[in-house]
Amino acid sequence: MFHHPGNVFVVSAPSGAGKSTLVHRLVASVPNLIFSISFTTRKPRPGEVDGRDYFFVDDDRFDAMVREDGFVEWVEVYGQRYGTGRTWLEGQLASGVDILLDIETTGALNLRHAIPDAHMIFILPPSAAALEQRLRGRGKDSDAQVALRLKHARHEMALYHAYDYLVINDDLEAAYRHFESIVYATRSQRERMAPVAQRILQGF
Ligand code: ADP
Ligand code: 5GP
Repeated sequence: MFHHPGNVFVVSAPSGAGKSTLVHRLVASVPNLIFSISFTTRKPRPGEVDGRDYFFVDDDRFDAMVREDGFVEWVEVYGQRYGTGRTWLEGQLASGVDILLDIETTGALNLRHAIPDAHMIFILPPSAAALEQRLRGRGKDSDAQVALRLKHARHEMALYHAYDYLVINDDLEAAYRHFESIVYATRSQRERMAPVAQRILQGF
C-alpha cells in the first residue's frame, strides 16, 4: 500500500485510441499533475525522449530491476516489457503532487491492489474502423505491430468495466474536455477540499 497525499489517476486504452494525445495535453495544461515515466525495453519512436516519455532500458537492466523487486507492476506486451519503477513512483507520490499513470489493463488492475483509491479512467475509440485508421495513420508501427495491437485491443476493451470513468475519443476537443473535467471533479471532492475549507472558515 502506498502513502499518497495527492490523487492517483490511471489511464488505459487500446493502442491507437488517442491516449498519448490526450495525456500529453492534460499533463501540459493541468498544474500539479505529473506523468509517471515507465521503464521499457522498447526502442524510442521518433520524437520520444528518454526520461520524458519513458526510461528506455535494455533487457539486462530490466531483468535486474525485476530481480531487485524494482517494479510496482510490470508486463510484457507487444513483445516488449514495460514497468512502473517502485523508487520513482514512491518519491513522486510522497511529494504530494497528483500523478497520472498511462499503463495497460493488466498493470492497471495490479496497481489498483497497491493503490486501492486510484481513479481509473478508460479511453475508448468510437469504432473498430477508427482505431485501425488511427494506428495506420500514426505511421509509427510496422504492419505486424498494427495487427498485433488490433488483436490485443479487443482483450483490453473487454476490461473497461473495471474502470471508474469512460471517455470516448471521437471528437478530440470534446474528449479532452471530458478527460480534463474528470481530474478537476476529483480534485473538488469534499474530503479532498476539507483542509482548504477549514482554513477559509477559520477566518470568520
Ligand atoms: P495511443 O497513445 O492511444 O496509442 P495516439 O495518441 O498515438 O494513441 O493516437 C493515435 C493516432 O490517432 C495519432 O496519429 C493521433 O494524432 C490520432 N488521434 C488521436 N485522437 C484522435 C481523434 N479524436 N480523432 C482523430 N485522430 C485522433
Ligand atoms: P507504447 O509502446 O504504445 O508506448 O505502449 C504500449 C502499451 O504499454 C500502452 O498500452 C501503455 O499504456 C502500456 N504501458 C506503458 N508503460 C507501462 C507500464 O509501466 N506498465 C504497464 N502495465 N503498461 C505500460
